[in-house]
Amino acid sequence: MSHPGIYKIACPGSRDLYIKRDDLLPYSFGGNKARKAVKFFEEIDKGDYDCVVTYGSGKSNHCRVIANMAAGHEMECHIISSEETAERTFNSILMELFGANITVCPVVRVHDTIEAVMASLKSKGKNPYFIPGGGHGNLGTGAYVDCYHEIRQFEKANNIKFDYIFHASGTGTTQAGLVCGALLDHDPVKIVGISIARKNPYGRNVVLESVRDYLGSVHERLSEKVIEDAVIFDDSYIQDGYGKSGDSVRNLIKYMMAAHGIPMDSTYVGKACAGMFEYIKKNRIADKNILFIHTGGTPLFFNDLESIWG
Ligand SMILES: *Cc1c(COP(=O)(O)O)cnc(C)c1O
Repeated sequence: MSHPGIYKIACPGSRDLYIKRDDLLPYSFGGNKARKAVKFFEEIDKGDYDCVVTYGSGKSNHCRVIANMAAGHEMECHIISSEETAERTFNSILMELFGANITVCPVVRVHDTIEAVMASLKSKGKNPYFIPGGGHGNLGTGAYVDCYHEIRQFEKANNIKFDYIFHASGTGTTQAGLVCGALLDHDPVKIVGISIARKNPYGRNVVLESVRDYLGSVHERLSEKVIEDAVIFDDSYIQDGYGKSGDSVRNLIKYMMAAHGIPMDSTYVGKACAGMFEYIKKNRIADKNILFIHTGGTPLFFNDLESIWG
């Protein structure tokens, strides 16, 4: 998949901001889930799998991309969704249009339901491939090690060094990949994951686990202190939790679209971008080169349209 670019935008009252447009990855509205899905389907293509199973909410960009790629591979796709988060969005409509089989169950039953769906497929003689929610795991982490290298290439080609990289952090795989890339390169860049839902210490611990897991898989041994220092997971901007946001996020989304033509959704990217500006202010960060990674979610931008502009 070709690499989306990094673009500079002028923001009032602060230095130029750079944005890496992973939302422009050329598959199914792009985003970090498209980048990760390519890695999972490379594995699937190597084996003799004939269907995929994954899980996520009705807002899940991951489930939409996986359902799309499974359809492209003419493979059955099974999605498990918790009833607490199974709302109808443009992502869930797309999942249905791609022919995914969606099973809804209470959140406490998700684990057992996944096992049951896997067992039932196997009992029918099928060979299902399970993709963890959000594309979590070393394959997904590896996708963002690649992204880190694209950022390094940009820095070298443009004679610039980023001091900070900000992005929306959910399951933590995107962050783990960026952090692993930086650690393996001995790059002092500060990578700040703005949590869109999870609280600390849990949220940060999941990122740390993913970092250790990936480094172990490439036989890299780094001290626990070095790893701990590299993981900044900020849970100050989660507002009322997953999918909930207030006026600061709405205003930021309006501004980004009107001033720069960049769509952002309120669950992930708009929330994280608003969080980044608050983080910069709170920590009095000045005269630094800052990169924000736009991690996608474009269909959700349209779900927000009426509530934000209406
Ligand atoms: C899933 C998602 C994230 C969070 O990525 P993780 O790797 O799960 O931390 C951020 N932005 C968008 C648009 C997403 O869909």
